[in-house]
Amino acid sequence: MILVFAMNLIDTHAHLTYEGLIERIDEVLAHSIEAGVTRWITVGTGKEDNEKVLHLISECENMVGALGYHPHEADSITDADMALLQKQAHHPKVVAIGECGLDYHYMYSSAQNQQCIFRRHLDIAADLQKPVIIHTRQAFDETMDILADYTGKLRGVVIHCYGGDQQQTKLVLDRGYYVSFTGTVTFKNSGDLREVTKTIPLDRLMIETDCPFISPHPKRNVKPNEPALLVYTAQCLADLYGLSFEQFSEIITKTSETFFNLPRLLE
Ligand SMILES: [Zn+2]
Ligand SMILES: [Zn+2]
Repeated sequence: MILVFAMNLIDTHAHLTYEGLIERIDEVLAHSIEAGVTRWITVGTGKEDNEKVLHLISECENMVGALGYHPHEADSITDADMALLQKQAHHPKVVAIGECGLDYHYMYSSAQNQQCIFRRHLDIAADLQKPVIIHTRQAFDETMDILADYTGKLRGVVIHCYGGDQQQTKLVLDRGYYVSFTGTVTFKNSGDLREVTKTIPLDRLMIETDCPFISPHPKRNVKPNEPALLVYTAQCLADLYGLSFEQFSEIITKTSETFFNLPRLLE
């Protein structure tokens, strides 16, 4: 079964440059459009990947990008790399800085380097007045502490692949940040996350695939994940909010357009 809706959803965080997707990008985007997911933000995670993002967004209509160095990469990032990022991020189709943040789950880079590189992304985001896409894993308090130093300086903050508890969510919302949900919110064992979700005002929420990772229920076995499957996450959240798919989609699409300063589609 494939759900088909006459809507224009935006996948606000996809890795369309990754293996499994980039080799068949035309087909991936055609599937996506067929499913009603008609715009994409493809997110860079490293030096080579950012180059690929710049190339892809220059070729694809209705696709914009975000550039950053994933916290996993922090140990290898130099001053020259940060200067390059600052320069690349001026591109008009680069709508955000990231993903960046802290990942203490894998600790592929030292905590100290992760914190330093994260701050430097925030400096760029503040300087260019572009919103910032945050990756945080097992580092919530440290992430929020660093962000607190930038209060009033950032154009917008979204915590991607959101999985916070009630207390963390209250803090995120009090700070004025946004949250973005992946397929994890659809998983059978994500009941707690769905309860938390109900407390989030709809105008602070966005959705994403984070493809090729995290295929949503009931397509968890479909690998790689791709933007077409975003509709399952949208349907799950629409049900939670007691809205039709169309009502829900319209609201979050507007939120995403405003947050990322995307041009509105002609009505
Ligand atoms: Zn991430
Ligand atoms: Zn990602």
